[in-house]
Amino acid sequence: MRITVLAGGVGAARFLRGLKAAAPGARITVIGNTGDDITLCGLRVCPDLDTVMYTLGGGISEEQGWGRAGETFTVAGELAAYGGDTPWFTLGDKDFATHIMRTKLLAEGKPLSEVTRMLCERWRPGVRLLPMSDDVVETHVHLDDGPVVHFQEWWVRLHATVPARAIVPHGAAEATPAPGVLEAIANADFILFPPSNPVVSIGPILAVPGIREAVAAKTVVGVSGIIGGAPVRGMADACLTAIGVETSATAVAAHYGAGLLDGWLVDEQDKAAADDPALAPIAVRALPLYMRDLATTTVIARASVDLAQELSMEPNG
Ligand code: GDP
Ligand code: CA
Repeated sequence: MRITVLAGGVGAARFLRGLKAAAPGARITVIGNTGDDITLCGLRVCPDLDTVMYTLGGGISEEQGWGRAGETFTVAGELAAYGGDTPWFTLGDKDFATHIMRTKLLAEGKPLSEVTRMLCERWRPGVRLLPMSDDVVETHVHLDDGPVVHFQEWWVRLHATVPARAIVPHGAAEATPAPGVLEAIANADFILFPPSNPVVSIGPILAVPGIREAVAAKTVVGVSGIIGGAPVRGMADACLTAIGVETSATAVAAHYGAGLLDGWLVDEQDKAAADDPALAPIAVRALPLYMRDLATTTVIARASVDLAQELSMEPNG
């Protein structure tokens, strides 16, 4: 079985841990969002790729869901003593090493996809991890009161409390999918969307020309990251509000649309979505969607695989 997953950071990484357990023999390709990437102190930081790599490779801080376990902050402290660069974005010492290595390899002229492959040689995540593109795409947030800021500045420094009027994957329209991305989509038995942020995680991936069309041609099953009208962790509601989409499992599925989604998993609290005419062509299934631990997450992942297999057997799947 070949499964291709479009992935953001924490929500995706947790789901992928369950997917590996639910489908142990499957060949899983992960297409990671790079819209969150940022250059800090001259170092290229790829938060979503690293969250997937560390989580599946056993190096993640379980409490935070991002960053390294057992981290220390000596370098960050020294940088702060110099007046800092971006004090609102703290990197740990172990994490710094990843960004130093990545930046060195990029400076040697290697594309991000090759660099990611090399970093994964250490972590052995058990999936093939591809960035959505080797080209630079950065999600920009247009604030209500005028200025345009990098997504990380809005998310981390401003905690997404300043209202935004638009969220734009800057550079996506000119980007090309990284080598292997379109093939991984075309050759997959089906595509899964983990409960990742639809606006700033899945959205930028779909904005790279060619990816949306390739995904739409396949059987696609998504898992709602919205439960009972709220994102389980984080501030995805602020992103949805910025693009004029209600924070509900139904509205997110309608935002993806029946042209893209064939199946949609919602939490039991949201089971009314199954009868919503707005989602008529989409097969909706309700089950508990809190990824509490590996066991509950494995059940969710198994349900997504089962629904995708069921739908791909149908003539229009
Ligand atoms: P990020 O890049 O680190 O923000 O991570 P993702 O975009 O991959 O995922 C973040 C999203 O995961 C959040 O917006 C939540 O909606 C969703 N999420 C987090 N925890 C859970 C959970 O336990 N269950 C479900 N269904 N969704 C979750
Ligand atoms: Ca992210």
